[in-house]
Amino acid sequence: MNIDSRSLEPLWGERQVRILAGPCSAESREQTMATALALAEAGVQVFRAGVWKPRTKPGGFEGMGEPALRWLREVKRRTGMAVATEVASAAHLRLCMHAGIDAVWLGARTVANPFAVQEIADAFAAMSPEARDSVAVMVKNPVNPDIELWIGAIERLLAAGVRRLAAIHRGFSSYGERYYRNAPMWRIPIELHRRCPALPLYCDPSHIAGRSSLVGPLAQTAMDMEFDGLIIECHCNPGLALSDSAQQITPAALAGLINTLRANRRANTGDIVLEECRRAIDSIDDELMELLARRMQVAREIGRIKTENAMPVVQPQRYRQLIEKRLAEADRLRLDPAFVRQFLAVLHEESVRQQIERDSSHTDNF
Ligand code: PEP
Ligand code: MN
Repeated sequence: MNIDSRSLEPLWGERQVRILAGPCSAESREQTMATALALAEAGVQVFRAGVWKPRTKPGGFEGMGEPALRWLREVKRRTGMAVATEVASAAHLRLCMHAGIDAVWLGARTVANPFAVQEIADAFAAMSPEARDSVAVMVKNPVNPDIELWIGAIERLLAAGVRRLAAIHRGFSSYGERYYRNAPMWRIPIELHRRCPALPLYCDPSHIAGRSSLVGPLAQTAMDMEFDGLIIECHCNPGLALSDSAQQITPAALAGLINTLRANRRANTGDIVLEECRRAIDSIDDELMELLARRMQVAREIGRIKTENAMPVVQPQRYRQLIEKRLAEADRLRLDPAFVRQFLAVLHEESVRQQIERDSSHTDNF
């Protein structure tokens, strides 16, 4: 399946849409309308709001469901903005079509599940071509950094006859990533764009960021990298939001951001990827420091046991075993054996010092 200009139609017809914005969830008619009116004022062209919310744990706010579609219709009628929401099943899609929703997106959890994507694709395939062409479809990246799964979801929709298609980069969940809620891994959307240059590519800085202060800088990075546009979570009162409260910005903040965004400042993509690598190094160093602290804590514990049992602190045979075990792994890990030897020597020396000096140190409180 070729994702190229012959198989795609312009996503928004005649229009260029750079900014989609709106709350994570449509929580009430008042919150939806208050946010929408302010966003229309700020020049937003497409209003987004979640109606069905996928939540990590049960008991969270799962969206207002079908009644919220009426509020989106009202937004469309009163502001002229197009309206967009997330669909996770064929049933959601049918309800959206019935309500005259202009654009739908498949969320990151849905895209990670080929059964769910196929079910939605089949629902599109069953529609008339006119109905299918009446809605724009945006495909978020899957939660896991798997570009084939992302492209596969787009191909399933294309095969079902969907022509108004785009991708949304919203970052990838990863263990140990602390700076961003979802690691941007810019190399993946860059690769998607290399493989499918005709496919519009939007960035969702809100879900990458996880906190409002990072949304602006990420939005600028995406513009620098020549993304086609942005989808940004905005709430009239972010502190009271029922989902994703920390990452939503006010309509006023969005208006400020739109004014300061420098469009398409031709990016040095290399710089951006380099920045990301530096952040990865910082995060690995964070973990290394924690691990070193834990290792020294265990060393002090060993020191205590050895003292209690009148054992010698340095046991050369144990040290030799330790070095041999690690040197045997050096090759596989692409580590220089000389470096491994040197590193372990320093580590061992400090561990011995900790064992000897543990009495003079503070009580461990790990
Ligand atoms: C959302 O856009 O509110 C959402 C749930 O997004 P994602 O699927 O990227 O987590
Ligand atoms: Mn959200």
